[in-house]
Amino acid sequence: MAEDKGDCVEAVHLLYHYLDGELTTERRVLISQHLDDCPPCGQAFDFEAELRVVIAQKCREEVPPELVERVRKALEQE
Ligand SMILES: [Zn+2]
Repeated sequence: MAEDKGDCVEAVHLLYHYLDGELTTERRVLISQHLDDCPPCGQAFDFEAELRVVIAQKCREEVPPELVERVRKALEQE
């Protein structure tokens, strides 16, 4: 099963690029196929995708404009 393991390492590595939208369509298809065939990689993908959504939402919702303004002013003072 060494070959399968290699596929997984490659797939997990590519996942990050996939999530960042840096992959070609061809590679996305290959990864999608691997994710469908390989539950561990599929779960890793779900987790990463979910994590990014959560982070994106938290960043939008929980950074109050006052804080952004305060950080900007702090930076200006340097
Ligand atoms: Zn895999």
